[in-house]
Amino acid sequence: MIATLTGIYGAGGCGRGIMPLARDRHGKVPDELVFVDDALAAPSIINGQTTKSFKAFCEMPAAHKQIAIAVAAPALRAQIASQITAENIPLLSVRADNIVFMDDVEIGEGALISPFVTFTSNIKVGRCFHANLYSYVEHDCVIGDFVTFAPGVQCNGHVHIGDFAYIGAGAVIRQGIVIGANATVGMGAIVTKDVPPGATVVGNPARPLIKN
Ligand code: UDP
Repeated sequence: MIATLTGIYGAGGCGRGIMPLARDRHGKVPDELVFVDDALAAPSIINGQTTKSFKAFCEMPAAHKQIAIAVAAPALRAQIASQITAENIPLLSVRADNIVFMDDVEIGEGALISPFVTFTSNIKVGRCFHANLYSYVEHDCVIGDFVTFAPGVQCNGHVHIGDFAYIGAGAVIRQGIVIGANATVGMGAIVTKDVPPGATVVGNPARPLIKN
C-alpha cells in the first residue's frame, strides 16, 4: 500500500508549474504523486506523472492522502476544495524553496507559493492562496480565502483583499487599497483607488471595465 498519496488537482498551466515543486518536496516516486483532473477522458502522463480522475484518486489505496489545488480561478478552486474536504482529504500547501518570509506571516491551508515570492511583515492570508512567480506581499496586508495572484503582482503595504479576488499578472496595488470580494484586477493594472466587490478594473490608473 502507498504510504502517502499526493494529488495535484488541475493538470493545466498552474498544475504544470506546481508539479515540479511538489515532486522536489516529496521525492521522485511517480505512483505516489499524481495529477487529478476532471477533463481527461483517459489516464495519461503529464510532466512524467500519471493523471487520475478525482473518483479514481479517492479509490486508490493509501494510508494517507493529500491534495494541492492548482486551479487558478478562485471560484473553481473553492468548489474543488469543498469536494476534497467532503472526502476528508487534507489540503496540501506547496511552497518553493526560495520564497522569503520575513516576520509574522500567517497563511491558511492549501496555499501554493511559487518561486521568488516575498512576504514581508505582519501579513495574514486565508485558505488556498495562490502567489505566482515573482509576486510580493508587503507589510500589514490582509488577504482573504481563495485569492489568486498571477505572476509579478506587487501588493504594497496595508492592502486588504476580499475572498475570491483575482489579481492579474504584473498588477501594482497602491498602499492602503481595499479590493472587494470577487473582484478582478486586469493584467498590468495600476490600482490607485479601492475596488468594489465583484468589480473588474483594468488599465493605468485602473478603472472599472465597462462591458458592452
Ligand atoms: N479542472 C478540473 N476540475 C475543475 C476545474 C478545472 O479538473 O472543476 C482542470 C481542468 O480540466 C484543467 C485545469 O483544471 O485541466 C485548469 O487548467 P487551465 O490551464 O485551464 O487553467 P489554470 O491552470 O491556469 O488554472
